[in-house]
Amino acid sequence: MAIEKTQQRVDINTRKIINGADADVVQLYPMKHTFAWDAYNAGNANHWLPTEINMQGDVEQWKTPGVLTDDEIRAFKTVLGFFTTADSIAANNIVMAAYRHVTSPECRMYLLRQAYEEAVHTHAYQYMVESLGLDSGEIYNMYREVDAIYNKASFILTFNDGIFDPSFKTGTFESDQKFLENIIVFSLIMEGIFFYSSFAVIFGFQRQNKMKSSAEQIQYIMRDESQHLNFGINLINTIKEEQPELWTPEFQQHVVDMVKEGAKLEYTFAAEVFPKGIFGMNAESFKQYIEHISDRRLARVGLPEQFGVSNPFPWMSEAVDLNKEKNFFETRVIEYKTGGTLDW
Ligand code: FE
Repeated sequence: MAIEKTQQRVDINTRKIINGADADVVQLYPMKHTFAWDAYNAGNANHWLPTEINMQGDVEQWKTPGVLTDDEIRAFKTVLGFFTTADSIAANNIVMAAYRHVTSPECRMYLLRQAYEEAVHTHAYQYMVESLGLDSGEIYNMYREVDAIYNKASFILTFNDGIFDPSFKTGTFESDQKFLENIIVFSLIMEGIFFYSSFAVIFGFQRQNKMKSSAEQIQYIMRDESQHLNFGINLINTIKEEQPELWTPEFQQHVVDMVKEGAKLEYTFAAEVFPKGIFGMNAESFKQYIEHISDRRLARVGLPEQFGVSNPFPWMSEAVDLNKEKNFFETRVIEYKTGGTLDW
């Protein structure tokens, strides 16, 4: 990045999510996209680490024969198989695509925080696999060996094609639409749809008083992920405002088609995870749940709902919409060391 020596100050009006002024990307002020700064502060306020959660109760349940049925063991391992690689795929996209092309420094600040949170999530799954004594070879290879996980991962990874190319640049109609497509796929579909059946399965265990420590890990993860989704939606809607020419009727239809394809992959995955249903949740109710959240994601970027179905798992929205005022996580107290008390 070459900069010019000048007395001419940055004009906030030239700041853009993509294609902003070059010199602008390291000057946090004047801040324009304040939603990103709010998200950064909210992320810091929600700081947590997987190792703060005691896994002992889960370890006992997992290792005591008869506590979990074969179907439950299969469901738990399959969702973990999805999770273990999914957050690494999300992290790669932040670093290799989003961060490189986003020119708003306040958005870059949040992307740095978000990338770290994806690492914390990957750590959480590693900690669960290790604590429960699972076969890591089996779990970590599932995204290539189990059809329903493979199909989701390979769908998502096609949207890295071209964007990860070092010569990719925004600034043309085609490349800007391609970048916007990437953000839409990763926010709305990956973070907004692909995680949610798996979250619901883990909360299904929790509602039966099973695997409650794993569920606590997932609650923290879901709280972070709902923030990632909100930020992604703000990015999309702000790009739409700043470059309305990108949001053509054809492109809108393309987004609707992609979300429908993502929903289909997700309920195929759900049917694979529990062919006979689990905890009173069957494949049909999962399909309806996935269609319901797909409609909500479309609505948030101003696109028409496609399914018009009610939410069969109303308890999921309670789990998602964590009340910030209330101390939801009462199982522990966090005290982070401040600079003055660090031991070297
Ligand atoms: Fe995320």
